[in-house]
Amino acid sequence: MKFDVAIIGGGLAGLTAGLSLQKRGLSTVIISAGQNAMHFSSGAFELLSRTPDGMPVDSPLEDIPLLPGDHPYSKIGLPRLTALIDQVPQLFASAGIKLQGHALRNSFRITPTGTLKRAWLALEDVALLPTVETSVGRKVLLVNLAGYPDFFTSFIAEGLEARGSSVRICSLKLPEMETLRTSPSEMRSVNIARVMDTAWKSVVDGVKLHLRGEDTVILPQVFGLKDESVLSLVRGSIPANVLFVGTMPPSVPGIRAQMKQKAAYENAGGTTLMGDTAVSAVLDGGRVVSLRTRNLGDHPVEAGQFILATGGFFSKGLSSTPSRVYETLFSLDVDYDADRNNWYAYDFFTPQPYLDFGVKTDNSFRAVRDGEAIENLRVIGSILGGAHSFKLGCGGGVAILSALAVAEDLSNELK
Ligand SMILES: Cc1cc2nc3c(=O)[nH]c(=O)nc-3n(C[C@H](O)[C@H](O)[C@H](O)COP(=O)(O)OP(=O)(O)OC[C@H]3O[C@@H](n4cnc5c(N)ncnc54)[C@H](O)[C@@H]3O)c2cc1C
Repeated sequence: MKFDVAIIGGGLAGLTAGLSLQKRGLSTVIISAGQNAMHFSSGAFELLSRTPDGMPVDSPLEDIPLLPGDHPYSKIGLPRLTALIDQVPQLFASAGIKLQGHALRNSFRITPTGTLKRAWLALEDVALLPTVETSVGRKVLLVNLAGYPDFFTSFIAEGLEARGSSVRICSLKLPEMETLRTSPSEMRSVNIARVMDTAWKSVVDGVKLHLRGEDTVILPQVFGLKDESVLSLVRGSIPANVLFVGTMPPSVPGIRAQMKQKAAYENAGGTTLMGDTAVSAVLDGGRVVSLRTRNLGDHPVEAGQFILATGGFFSKGLSSTPSRVYETLFSLDVDYDADRNNWYAYDFFTPQPYLDFGVKTDNSFRAVRDGEAIENLRVIGSILGGAHSFKLGCGGGVAILSALAVAEDLSNELK
């Protein structure tokens, strides 16, 4: 199998790069081992949600020139970054994914614990407020589904009441959910979402019975897994402002977005090797020649250019021994602290340093091994070093924008 570009990893970064490259007329393959971070995400992408140390600012884009030179945004540069950001809503819309939010400024999403967190662009069923002062609603009806343990109504109510809303909680008992439980502890968002393409009507009827003049209704994000139109049907059938708030993972909006990205990529002519793992690479003269995958065995995947989008520790793009952090496929140079004692913070709730380790690249995102850039291997997404995604809250932004920058560069080079 021979392609213009082979992409290893089919998460947000790999799929964004693949779709962009296919639309630019290149032939690509995505090899992807399995689940990715989107399946566990909030459904909101972060561009820069936390302020760099000591920099008091409101607008995240204004912070970008202040980021260290090895940060992926700094490598792209502010004018180009702004131009790439402009492409994002349209590229996602072409995959049938409607994004809300301001492309150049943070909004605020309601988290599953009722607090507010800065967010950049978000999927349609994420409760997003334009400013931190925006009221969620004067009177809120917070609705859970009986038997569903992963939607924390008391936390959400406490968070909203602290912001001035009066909140009433109710629980709907649905006959459609009675057959879903396979064990006492097994009732996940996705199991519920599978029946909600039809059972949404029972939810609407139940909510209407409970409404006592509330202006806002909050529901868990368990709608529209396959059929996104259910979101507007629910919104249009309840006589109040309807907001969908996150549950514990898995993430229904995240999974839906990934299914749509994958379908759009394949419709654009892209080849997917889903459930397959790249296990080794052949290099010759400082260039990658081919990859071997677990399923294809002796049939290598060949390409002129390669993109590594295998994610961080979570997706096994990075791994470690007690003394060393390493990149799992090419043994690339990794940016990490040599002193193991500095890998983690004792306070569980502070940003953990190891989450910010990543692969070193040159300014064009070419991977570096033994101090030398590999000419035809680019690195994108959360495996990138220098991003400090966890500390700065820029995971989704880095994934999408590094993917678009590399796709643009490769298409310019290959044409
Ligand atoms: C649990 C979790 C929740 C997050 N939530 C958010 C959020 O709400 N908002 C936000 O902005 N950011 C969030 N992030 C940050 C997140 O890292 C990025 O937003 C982004 O989704 C990362 O995308 P990625 O494509 O770089 O990596 P991943 O999503 O990790 O995808 C990497 C893919 O590569 C595959 N892979 C790995 N090795 C191989 C191999 N050898 N061969 C083939 N395939 C391989 C993996 O199976 C995986 O599918 C979250 C991260 C985590 C871990």
